[in-house]
Amino acid sequence: MTMLPYGRQSITEDDIKAVTEILRGDWLTTGPAVAAFEAAISKVSGGHRAVTATSGSAALHMAYAAAGVSTGDRVITTPMTFIATAAMASVLGATIDFADVEEDTALIDPNAVDALIDDRTKIIAAVDYAGHPADYDRLNSSAARAGALVLDDAAHSIGSTYKGRPVGDLADLTTFSFFPTKNMTTGEGGAVVAKENALAQRAHEFHFIGLIRDAERFRLTTEGPWHQEVHEFGMNYRLTDIACALGLSQLSRLNAFKDRRSKITARYTRALADVDGIRLPVQRDHVDVIRHLYPIRILDDRRRQIFERMRADGIGVQVNYMPVYWHPVYADAGYQRGMCPNAESFYAEELSLPIYPDLTDSEVDRVVDALIRALH
Ligand SMILES: *Cc1c(COP(=O)(O)O)cnc(C)c1O
Repeated sequence: MTMLPYGRQSITEDDIKAVTEILRGDWLTTGPAVAAFEAAISKVSGGHRAVTATSGSAALHMAYAAAGVSTGDRVITTPMTFIATAAMASVLGATIDFADVEEDTALIDPNAVDALIDDRTKIIAAVDYAGHPADYDRLNSSAARAGALVLDDAAHSIGSTYKGRPVGDLADLTTFSFFPTKNMTTGEGGAVVAKENALAQRAHEFHFIGLIRDAERFRLTTEGPWHQEVHEFGMNYRLTDIACALGLSQLSRLNAFKDRRSKITARYTRALADVDGIRLPVQRDHVDVIRHLYPIRILDDRRRQIFERMRADGIGVQVNYMPVYWHPVYADAGYQRGMCPNAESFYAEELSLPIYPDLTDSEVDRVVDALIRALH
């Protein structure tokens, strides 16, 4: 039997056609498909300006750079994430304060944030783990009191809502990833959404090598019509028209992806409700979730055993995530184990079951059977 992955892309003939049309056209990059994809992302993100990027990690780098994160600043984030959420602030010179997560949702705990925040805090970076938005009302009011910004790492949650508002409209800055295992894909890719246009413009310039092309802002005024100039360093994080055309086509199916993910969720939840030795993911009443991960918890110290048994049975389960500060790069900088006990016990038990739009009902049943066998 083939190994079921824990996540994968869903590609149609329409996606393929969208890409080949670009290859036959004039613009492979910096063209109209980029503008059209950015407008479409903006539309699902509360209408705020979107800037595309070559990855979710690049988008995080752009967002932190746009906010002016630099040496001496502090960024509060969750350890229950992919390392890029913290690393992209670290590479800009910031010091990371890891706030523990809520015991049940594994989302950043606003009380833990309040215990860490002070006037050096530049950003609170939340992660919508598994697609479930964090508690933005609490995080935004804490940030406002401290003069900080809120960033939503929404690599898992494009299409989710919180109290009726879409992801993209919940924080000052929102970042997406379009890696193939995420909710929609451009191969590699990502985007930043910013509520304030000045932040979006700075993110745009950072991803465009820092080039300024607006004559009104030039400091060198004696050059010719070819002139462009740089005031602050940037990177080349531009997403191609090829990738953006795929993204536009994928985004048109976001609702269908969300619907299939919630049907898979319901099927797992029904089948596993009475199984001993596990805990199922929880969801707050005020959110509507695109379920990116289906993270169950394996009790009685058996996570590794169940992981290995399921892998041997052809089920590509995954673990999301080792607490970020356990990575040697942070441990070497003095971060100690034990710092965020809820995140550490969540990590000890967590197992992500396969979930992606093309996963069939009978494949879901195969995962359930394999899990029950593994637990016996
Ligand atoms: C995938 C992911 C990223 C990074 O995105 P890439 O596109 O892989 O660079 C950042 N944060 C979280 C929570 C992710 O899951």
